Amino acid sequence: MTPDDWLRKGAALLAAAQIPDPQREARLLWRATPDEDGPTFLAKVEQRAGRVPLSHILGYRDFYKHRFIVTGDVLDPRPDTETLIEAALAHPFARVLDLGTGSGCILLSLLDAQGQATGVGTDISPAALDIARQNSAALQLEERADFVQSDWFEKVTGAFDLIVSNPPYIAAAEMAALQPEVQFYEPRIALTDEADGLTAYRVITQSAPDYLGSGGRLIFEIGPTQGAAVTALMKDAGFADIRVIPDLDGRDRVVAGYFAKTAA
Ligand code: GLN
Repeated sequence: MTPDDWLRKGAALLAAAQIPDPQREARLLWRATPDEDGPTFLAKVEQRAGRVPLSHILGYRDFYKHRFIVTGDVLDPRPDTETLIEAALAHPFARVLDLGTGSGCILLSLLDAQGQATGVGTDISPAALDIARQNSAALQLEERADFVQSDWFEKVTGAFDLIVSNPPYIAAAEMAALQPEVQFYEPRIALTDEADGLTAYRVITQSAPDYLGSGGRLIFEIGPTQGAAVTALMKDAGFADIRVIPDLDGRDRVVAGYFAKTAA
């Protein structure tokens, strides 16, 4: 069989398994197959047809301006999250904290874009931190990025002018409706709080003022229905100028605000 034959066969198998964009995915899997080895390619196609995330088979995901190593130990970086990156980069910052950093894609994208800044990424999962450190090394950001195992703020010290987080925000009751790629292959602790989806926002908004100077910013990724609830939590914690920002699909995706000491 020629490469084109293998590609056609792969795309047909992906299409039969209802994978969206089967041609594109077949192409990416072919490109990731050494020596144009047809059977190896087909093995990858079969994994994908079984709903293993494309990023887990390829070993990477492109996010914002870089390629990130991705495994089943971290949340797969999503294009939606670029909305948070853009909101954060709308103003300069010197020291950033990323709570629940996973692959490190948020912290590392921000540090790369803001050349003088330094930052800390936390995660409760040592396996996730291992991936984040690999990504930091690959992007040559080790001098400016520290990674700390921590349950939210537990092990965090020092002051920041920007705190960002894409926490687990899916309610326990919504987990069963997720795509199989997400439900069965992504780390459950990165997705859900096993409660109403708002637990992390409650914890983080309460403690964030202790780590932010006046005028410091807090920026969250949220699920599309959580804008009002997260805005209220931020208001109660002393944040001002709170904005809800939609993603490219027009769904609410980010909440951002400033900490104003006098308003607390
Ligand atoms: N956006 C992800 C999803 O809908 C959820 C990520 C998260 O909980 N932080 O699958």
